Amino acid sequence: MTADLHIHSTASDGRLSPGEIVRQAAAAGLSHIAITDHDTVAAHLELREAASTENSAAKLTIIPGIEFSTDCPRHEIHILGYFIDIDNSRLKDQLGIILADRLQRAKKMVKKLNQLGYLIDYDKVAEFAGQAMAIGRPHVAAALVAGNYFNTATEAFAVLLANNGPAYVPHYKLPPEQVIKLIEQAGGIAVLAHPGLIGNDNLVLNIIKAGVGGLEAFHPEHDQAMTDKYIDIANKYNLKITGGSDFHGIPGRYPAKIGEFTISTVLADTLSR
Ligand code: AMP
Ligand code: FE
Ligand code: FE
Ligand code: ZN
Repeated sequence: MTADLHIHSTASDGRLSPGEIVRQAAAAGLSHIAITDHDTVAAHLELREAASTENSAAKLTIIPGIEFSTDCPRHEIHILGYFIDIDNSRLKDQLGIILADRLQRAKKMVKKLNQLGYLIDYDKVAEFAGQAMAIGRPHVAAALVAGNYFNTATEAFAVLLANNGPAYVPHYKLPPEQVIKLIEQAGGIAVLAHPGLIGNDNLVLNIIKAGVGGLEAFHPEHDQAMTDKYIDIANKYNLKITGGSDFHGIPGRYPAKIGEFTISTVLADTLSR
């Protein structure tokens, strides 16, 4: 049996609804999944609402998760939270602030794009965001592609939306220490996401010292050497080892399907203990 502890839904920048993710994960025979949307637990609220009518996923364990961006100069540092209480009031308050900022930020990015000659409307971005609580750059990129300015979202990122690109606007973020505390006070365990993408192991060690309880050693953008290295580091610092596909369901972006990139069920079991 295998598991996938890093999945995005329509509540942030994924293309599949939470219910569809559960159906596909069950069909793929997974033992555990965690939906880890950027800055929102809306997928888990939605699944809870549906739980009384839906019973198809009885054998699938769904771990409540989230992925926070953190405030770190010049680096994208993402911290995952697992087993969080989705009703925790401090967590809800903080997410409210972050999501409101995301709305304003998306409007600012559209304004910048308009000034640069890319004539897209905020309404179009909102349309792509749909029911997403966490509106973000992928929705802006989709509007640019729909406006025929680019063939793919990746091109829009490369030219305009990448960190410090001409249309980039930073979002409101908490420093890593505060994100870790927020997750822990909500009963969760904090895990440093895709450490290999940070590109700086001194920074990885700093985040470990800030108090994360786990390291996401398995990620599609880690090669074997990186994976081995982060397993060693996790063992050295007594951290849980996790992993997941970072599935978004965006055409052309690996993995194409749930179940294509998985980790051992033993790791998912270990995380819960
Ligand atoms: P945001 O939260 O608005 O800053 O957007 C970050 C999200 O954009 C990430 O979680 C990815 O899903 C997506 N993303 C980041 N870089 C790229 C890229 N180069 N191409 C396509 N999508 C990207
Ligand atoms: Fe994303
Ligand atoms: Fe991430
Ligand atoms: Zn992710």
